[in-house]
Amino acid sequence: MSARIISGQEVALQIRGEIRQEVEGLKSAYGISPGLVTIIVGRNPASVSYVTGKQKTAKELGFYSVQEDCPEDISKADLLALIDRYNKNPDIHGILVQLPLPGHINETDVLYAIDPDKDVDGFHPVNMGRLMIGEALFYPCTPYGIQQLLIRSNIEIEGSEVVVVGRSNIVGKPVAMMLCQKAKGANATVTICHTGTRDLASHTRRADILIVAAGRPKAITADMVKEGAVVIDVGVNRIGMTPEGKAKLCGDVDFDAVREKASAITPVPGGVGPMTITMLMLNTLNAAKRSLKCQ
Ligand code: NAP
Repeated sequence: MSARIISGQEVALQIRGEIRQEVEGLKSAYGISPGLVTIIVGRNPASVSYVTGKQKTAKELGFYSVQEDCPEDISKADLLALIDRYNKNPDIHGILVQLPLPGHINETDVLYAIDPDKDVDGFHPVNMGRLMIGEALFYPCTPYGIQQLLIRSNIEIEGSEVVVVGRSNIVGKPVAMMLCQKAKGANATVTICHTGTRDLASHTRRADILIVAAGRPKAITADMVKEGAVVIDVGVNRIGMTPEGKAKLCGDVDFDAVREKASAITPVPGGVGPMTITMLMLNTLNAAKRSLKCQ
């Protein structure tokens, strides 16, 4: 069997089409556009590339978008003051501070400073807590993208055995928490694995849906996957350069071998990646819609 390839590219395009329509509707009915500010500190090349992608997509979708480029040595006080200005700016519905931040700035303090109603990354502890009790305002973008990818690819989540490899606050824990909620598109039995897991393969082999966010190239080999499983590869590992000078990427799953065993699998690139930015846009659109209800 060769697995169906789940194209994040295609699903993301479909969702972006829906977002574009809603943006036009908001503009004509209320005269507002979803507003997104992206704040970057320093010039870390990976961060610059992520932020550029987010700004480009926001513009393509008709958002009002602003980019704040802060110097590497900005003080924490100045960064918090900048965030506060956007917390109070009614034209901005979403605030994204690109992580990681330089060592002299405590990331938790910065995440706390963002108004939870504008926290479109979904990383504010209030939003993490709301997600846990099933009352999320925003879902973190990558987990949200994974769930939508499964739903829109007609993969049965309810009642299935989901195994998540990785327990980070941005991917592993929130996706596990989302998929175990008593809700549509969730209601799965979820196991979380990490480096303290004694026999990783004994867990991964039970999975109907295997979600891998370990950041380790080819950590999941074919013998660790059940016949017919759905495999979502979140990992993005840089493993060299292409002749054109672009970064060569691979996921956390041994794609060529596992695709012969799985029923469906996401590629890297072109799987979860395109969904992440799209869900950021959806979160910002939803924040703008929610702001109307508050007026
Ligand atoms: P992270 O913070 O480094 O967390 C990795 C997790 O995987 C940790 O919980 C770690 O366990 C666990 N782990 C690592 N090696 C393992 C192994 N051999 N067996 C079992 N568990 C293992 O990473 P992250 O931020 O969640 O990101 C994970 C990957 O996804 C990275 O490659 C990242 O680039 C990618 N990513 C992609 C997107 C996207 O949009 N496509 C978005 C976010 C992240 P411990 O907790 O025990 O250390």
